Amino acid sequence: MSLICPVCGKNLIKSGRSAVCASGHSFDYAKSGYLNLLLNSPGIHGDDKDMVKARTRFLQSGAYAFLRERLRQLSAGCNIAADLGCGEGYYTSALEAEERYGFDLSKDALKHAAKNDLSGQYTVASIFHLPLADSSCDMVLTCFAPLAAAEIRRILKPGGKFIFVTPGPRHLYEMKEILYEHPYENTVEPADTGMPCIHEETISAEQTVSNQALLDLFMMTPYAWKTEKTGTDRLSEAGDIRITCEFVIRIYAADH
Ligand SMILES: [Zn+2]
Repeated sequence: MSLICPVCGKNLIKSGRSAVCASGHSFDYAKSGYLNLLLNSPGIHGDDKDMVKARTRFLQSGAYAFLRERLRQLSAGCNIAADLGCGEGYYTSALEAEERYGFDLSKDALKHAAKNDLSGQYTVASIFHLPLADSSCDMVLTCFAPLAAAEIRRILKPGGKFIFVTPGPRHLYEMKEILYEHPYENTVEPADTGMPCIHEETISAEQTVSNQALLDLFMMTPYAWKTEKTGTDRLSEAGDIRITCEFVIRIYAADH
């Protein structure tokens, strides 16, 4: 196991239902199988139960399966992979690495991840302060989560790769047409990773989503916070719609 103790930084070793370090710091696995390595941080929490439920239901609809498949392909041949802001482990569980680690602040999400993906290792931790040793990962994935550039550079092995997934310009455009009078395309911001970008691609699929999936999708997006109730009403009345799912995948190489 590649996790390190959040107190002293020594390697953690799995011992029964706990992970322990050589200094005697011990952390218990939750019943569902995830490990909590977040040191007393009151007030810090991830997505709540309702959000997790909505996202899980939506992902099970298969609308993002083409992104999951692409990430699986890109991970082929990796030894140690880390997914930062992994949520329910939807993408983590697809990675073809010998050791797969998922990190998130949401215990509700990790509970789901650990139950569904027994060979993945899911840990409650901040992606800005990861319990992983320097130069320990072949691959790091950030998919729809904040960019923790310095931490990513620290944990990547020389020659390792960082995969960064963000919404494409047309992502969910049809949903915005229902919500807003003047819908806009997403801008793809340059990402300041401090590493050279070696590959960039945009993948896109237009597909029919059910009204339930549409409402779940809405719950997962930032739009839910900046839309008045009338927007939600309009979505409820929209029925099943054709929608574009578009992602920009950028790959960076650790050159240290
Ligand atoms: Zn320790």
